[in-house]
Amino acid sequence: MIGNPLAKVGEASAVVIAILAVMIAVVPNPDKRVERKPPPIRQPQLINEDLHTKTEVLITGGGPVGMITALLLAKQNISSVVIERRFRHGGAPAAHQLNFRSNEILQRDAQVSRDLLRKGATPMNEYRWVKMATSLASPPLAKLDHVGNLNKTIESGITWAEYLNIPQDMTERAILQAVEAEPLVDLRFGHSFANHVEDESGVTTTVALDSGISRWGYHVRSRYIIDATGSKGVIRRRVNMTMSGERGVMNVINLHVRMDLTDVVPEAKDNFRDGGALMTWTFAPDVGGAVAIHHNMSSHSSVQIQHFPSIVSASEFTDNGARIIRSLIGRDDVPFEIEAVDTCVNHSL
Ligand SMILES: Cc1cc2nc3c(=O)[nH]c(=O)nc-3n(C[C@H](O)[C@H](O)[C@H](O)COP(=O)(O)OP(=O)(O)OC[C@H]3O[C@@H](n4cnc5c(N)ncnc54)[C@H](O)[C@@H]3O)c2cc1C
Repeated sequence: MIGNPLAKVGEASAVVIAILAVMIAVVPNPDKRVERKPPPIRQPQLINEDLHTKTEVLITGGGPVGMITALLLAKQNISSVVIERRFRHGGAPAAHQLNFRSNEILQRDAQVSRDLLRKGATPMNEYRWVKMATSLASPPLAKLDHVGNLNKTIESGITWAEYLNIPQDMTERAILQAVEAEPLVDLRFGHSFANHVEDESGVTTTVALDSGISRWGYHVRSRYIIDATGSKGVIRRRVNMTMSGERGVMNVINLHVRMDLTDVVPEAKDNFRDGGALMTWTFAPDVGGAVAIHHNMSSHSSVQIQHFPSIVSASEFTDNGARIIRSLIGRDDVPFEIEAVDTCVNHSL
């Protein structure tokens, strides 16, 4: 962030910035222990003067943090333009756990619809028992009551919000609905940051159209610019703000897998009765600690493999991914399809 547009926004924004700092700690795909150099940004060759835009705040990045920041600014009557280089929200497997505090901010401060969030989430009681086993098909070695502890937090009165198991796609969809209903926020998909120049009264940013595929771009004149490009830190790096701390503490790989486990998981009949979900911690030599949340209604599993050896790219994983999923299921006769793979590395910053 350059300048201090959030001075007016007060406490709620400070919380979002704190969340941003925590979120930045989860960085997809770095392959080294030092922050790798970002790829060069494509610069537009031609400027369309008709698209020249003036706004109080330009927010770069329309992920959860960019969209929530825009909603918080709007609450203080501050208009903003949000540029997002993707053509639509979602797409890759990412967050599943929406904790109490994030949920509070979404509902109370950013006015995101509770109904929509709950619609996209698996209710806690439906994945109450976490099964610990050597594979999904094997009998449980132990069962943990995942909900018991969470309920204690709610009962203690610290929070009124729920802890949701909701795919990031669905969370972003709910935030997007609030953004679309807010006239002070102008969210532009397929528009990407190209460069910026600061002067005493503000910032002039060049934005590339069609995510940089076309040669066209335009200028945005704003008083402030906010970097909400997540771990990419596109503007942060341009202004030479580096991240310090131990990098690569834990490599995690996330997958979306389509498979029907109804006749595979011994407890399926109980857990799936109402179309619920099953959460499993699996320990096998070649899986080495994996969490699988299986949503039976959609025959979809979200699998997160912890402590995976350092990965260069998600595509590299698909070479041996099938073998690992087979081992995770624990049976050879169950068809499955890996639909999406993403990696993330936790840093201690
Ligand atoms: C595999 C995985 C599992 C995770 N699990 C969890 C979890 O269970 N719970 C949890 O709380 N968090 C989890 N996270 C972290 C969570 O996904 C991130 O913290 C969150 O997405 C950060 O939001 P953000 O808006 O800061 O950044 P992002 O979601 O990264 O959004 C940044 C946006 O900026 C856009 N952008 C980038 N460059 C440009 C540009 N030049 N111009 C315009 N736009 C640009 C990107 O397209 C993107 O949409 C997980 C992450 C991963 C990868």
